[in-house]
Amino acid sequence: MVKAIVGANWGDEGKGKITDMFAGEADIVVRFQGGANAGHTIINEYGKFALHLLPSGVCSPNVVNIIGNGVALDIEKFAKEIESVVNAGVPKPKILVSERAQMMMPFHILLDTYEEERLAQRQFGSTKSGIAPFYSDKYAKIGFQVSDLYDEEHLKEKLNRVCEVKNLLLEHVYHKPLLNPDDIFASLMKHRDIIAPYVSDTAKYLRQAVREGKNILLEGQLGSLKDPDFGIYPMTTSSSTLAGYGAVGAGVPPYEIKEIIAVTKAYSSAVGAGEFVSEIFGEEAAQMREHGGDAGEYGATTKRPRRMGWFDCVATRYGCEVQGATQAVLTAIDCLSYLDEIKVCVAYDIDGEITRDFPVTSKLKKAMPVYKTLPGFKCDIRGIKDFDKLPEEAKNYVVFIEKEIETPITMVSNGPRREEIIFRNIRF
Ligand code: GDP
Ligand code: MG
Repeated sequence: MVKAIVGANWGDEGKGKITDMFAGEADIVVRFQGGANAGHTIINEYGKFALHLLPSGVCSPNVVNIIGNGVALDIEKFAKEIESVVNAGVPKPKILVSERAQMMMPFHILLDTYEEERLAQRQFGSTKSGIAPFYSDKYAKIGFQVSDLYDEEHLKEKLNRVCEVKNLLLEHVYHKPLLNPDDIFASLMKHRDIIAPYVSDTAKYLRQAVREGKNILLEGQLGSLKDPDFGIYPMTTSSSTLAGYGAVGAGVPPYEIKEIIAVTKAYSSAVGAGEFVSEIFGEEAAQMREHGGDAGEYGATTKRPRRMGWFDCVATRYGCEVQGATQAVLTAIDCLSYLDEIKVCVAYDIDGEITRDFPVTSKLKKAMPVYKTLPGFKCDIRGIKDFDKLPEEAKNYVVFIEKEIETPITMVSNGPRREEIIFRNIRF
C-alpha cells in the first residue's frame, strides 16, 4: 500500500512530524521531489531534528529511506545530515539513493545566489540552495545523474560542455569567477566515494516492494500552492509538490497510491515572497508568530521569519483538490489557544465578485479575504488524546474547516511531538 503525505498549503504544514509518526508502521519512506531546501521538523525519543534532504523515516530503525529520482541530491549536505542524525544517537539509518537522481552541482548554488543578487529588489526569495538552476538544467537536459559518476569519460566531456555555457553566463552576465571543469570533476569523484554505498535502482526496488504489499510512504516537500503548475506561479518551487508527481519522482505505478494525506496547519504561514491572501501584519502577526511556539515560525532551513495569516479555506480546499487528498491532518491547533476569536478566510473578493474558487495568479493578486469569525477556545489543549475531550470551540473550529475544505480531517495535531496527535474515528 502506498500512501502520500503532502502539503495542502505553502509548506511547513507539519509533514515531517506526520511522516515520522506514520514511519513507525512503514517499511519504506521516499522523498520524491525538491532538495535540501526542505526543512521537516521531527521531535521524538532521539531529540529534535530539522531534516533537509533525508526522508522523515530516518528515526525509525526498520524503515528503508529512499531518495527518489525526482529529488535534487546535494551529496555534501546528504553526508553531513546523516552524520548529524547519527551523532544525535539515532541508529544508522538504512538509506538508498536512486541512480537516476540528479546531483546538485556547485554552480547551481552559485547561479542561484548570483541571480538573486542581480534581481535585487525583484528577487524570488530563493533559499539559494540551487533548486531553480538545478531543475532548469534537468529539463534543459544538461543535468548530471548519479549514474554519470560511473562513466568518467562521458562525465568529463559533459562537464566541459556544460561549463562552457555556464562560464559565458558567469563572465558576461554576472561578472564572477569562472568554473574549472577539472576541479569539478575532482570533487565529483570525492562525491562518488561518499554516495557509493547508497546508490541503487530504487524504482525497481519500489516496484518489488509494491508487489510484496509493503507499506510505503511518499513524503512531499512544500505544498500545493508552491507547485509550478497549480500553485502561485512564478512564486513557486521548481518541482511538482503534488502526490501525483510522487508516482514519477519515486517510481511507483500511479494507481498504487491509495491514500493521499494532505497536511494543513490551523493557521497560515509562508516563507518567501508570493500571493498570500489571508496574510496578517504588524502586532497581530507578531503575536501569532510568537504563539507558534514549537511551530517556531522561522523557516527550519532558512531561519527567516515566516509570513503569518489566518486559515484560508479557499486556498486549502483547492490545495486538497489538486493533491487528490483522501483525508487531511490539521496541525498546530494548539498554537491558536491565545485567541479570543479566530478568523477564517472563507471566500475571496476579486473586483467585487465573491468566489470560493482559487484563481490564477493574476487574479489572485487582486483577491481580498472574506472572513468569518469563530469563537476561540482560550485554553491549553496539549496533552488531549481524545477529540471529544477538546473544548467545544476547538471541535467546532475543526468541523467548520472540514466542511469548508471538503476533505475529512481524520487527525488533529495538538503539539509538535510524535505522540501529540488526536485520531478521529470518522470513516468516509
Ligand atoms: P514541514 O516542512 O511540513 O515538515 O513542516 P516544518 O517542520 O517546516 O514546520 C512545522 C513546524 O510546526 C515545526 O516546527 C513542527 O515542530 C511544528 N509542529 C508540527 N505539528 C505541530 C502541532 O500540532 N503543534 C505545534 N505547536 N507545533 C507543531
Ligand atoms: Mg518545512
